[in-house]
Amino acid sequence: MSEELAKEIEAANADLEGKTPQEILKWAMDKLHPSIALAWSGAEDVAVVDMMVKINPEARIFTLDTGRLNPETYDVIDRVRDKYNMNIEVMFPDSEKTEEMVRAQGMNLFYKSVDNRKLCCKIRKVQPLRRQLGTLDAWVTGLRADQAVTRTALKRVEIDEAFGGIIKVNPLAEWTHEQVWDYIKANDVPYNELHNNNYPSIGCAPCTRAVKEGEDIRAGRWWWESPDTKECGLHVKEK
Ligand code: SF4
Repeated sequence: MSEELAKEIEAANADLEGKTPQEILKWAMDKLHPSIALAWSGAEDVAVVDMMVKINPEARIFTLDTGRLNPETYDVIDRVRDKYNMNIEVMFPDSEKTEEMVRAQGMNLFYKSVDNRKLCCKIRKVQPLRRQLGTLDAWVTGLRADQAVTRTALKRVEIDEAFGGIIKVNPLAEWTHEQVWDYIKANDVPYNELHNNNYPSIGCAPCTRAVKEGEDIRAGRWWWESPDTKECGLHVKEK
């Protein structure tokens, strides 16, 4: 990152201190649209979809179809598409790489080792994301600092070194789970039906399960792994 850009981002974070997610998004979209898009996971960051469309009906939203999503996730993608009358930019994994991986390692390779799980996430999520981010100057996420031990240092605006120094905007960085749900309910935002069945965090079907009372909200993601490995590579730098 250049020194100049680092200073600009530092100043932006200072200016955006105490601002609402909508103010953060407006700042980012005024500056960067149409080279900015939300990476929507089909989970609770539907709140961000609603906010962005209200700021600019031409807001760009993309999502990664790994080929292993739950039916409820496909359903909410279409419900959002219909409600906001928008095209969702759906990104798919490279078919040759996916076929090669599955033939070599099996359909459910991710249960066999962390390395296999990371390979699957890389081919099905990270590479399609990299392809999309290569066309943008900035991306928006629904990340929150309170979601995981891997996310406590999250800022409102960051330089994403993991994806070539692109700007990353996290308007919900300071929000809690409850604030997001208050927003979804108050604004009648379509959401993934799995949330009604104790799935607070939703990824691919074979890698997500419902959580039990009192469990961490990300306990259902890659539940067979330890908490410090539980990122798919979308929000951490590849080693
Ligand atoms: S979450 Fe599971 S199925 Fe989805 S890309 Fe990662 S390892 Fe593969």
